[in-house]
Amino acid sequence: MELACLDLEGVLIPEIWIAFAEETGIEELKATTRDIPDYDVLMKQRLRILDEHGLKLPQIQETISRLSPLPGAQEFVDWLRERFQLIILSDTFYEFAAPLMAQLGNPTLFCHKLEVDSTGRITDYTLRQRDPKRQSVRAFQLLNYRVIAAGDSYNDTTMLGQAEAGILFHAPQNVIDEFPQFPAVHTYEDLKKEFLKASNRELTL
Ligand SMILES: [Mg+2]
Repeated sequence: MELACLDLEGVLIPEIWIAFAEETGIEELKATTRDIPDYDVLMKQRLRILDEHGLKLPQIQETISRLSPLPGAQEFVDWLRERFQLIILSDTFYEFAAPLMAQLGNPTLFCHKLEVDSTGRITDYTLRQRDPKRQSVRAFQLLNYRVIAAGDSYNDTTMLGQAEAGILFHAPQNVIDEFPQFPAVHTYEDLKKEFLKASNRELTL
């Protein structure tokens, strides 16, 4: 039995924090896991910046409501789901992802949760567990699934390493150079081919 695991931001949808940084003009909010590999450090910095500017969840959700999946993402998800059971493993939050997941046909999503007070201020966040993407893949393997995973950034690399096959998609050159053990592709057509190559079944485009 085979399972496909995909990262979300940078693979199927734009980076939410970058979009919000562009709308608000706050340069510091552009940092992602590509720049700060420790997610806890990154999130604490983001919440501090939000507080400094008096920004709350509804303002971020307003930005997100104007975002769309990356061009070709919906078609790719449909293609993948016809051939694999698909689970999205993301370091985003349910409060952010919902409208974009609806545009992708609501595939299963494992991610984190925000703590929000009655005024909409984001007070904290709950990470589902440490190293959640890799732990998810491990759990699926315990259920006798063979996992093929794809992601674009540092926070995906332990998932890619744990999976029976890991693929870099849309990854920046520094990640590609640091992790030469993973094939790296940049288009959905090439990503489909990598999934077919990694599968132990006779699948076709
Ligand atoms: Mg990503």
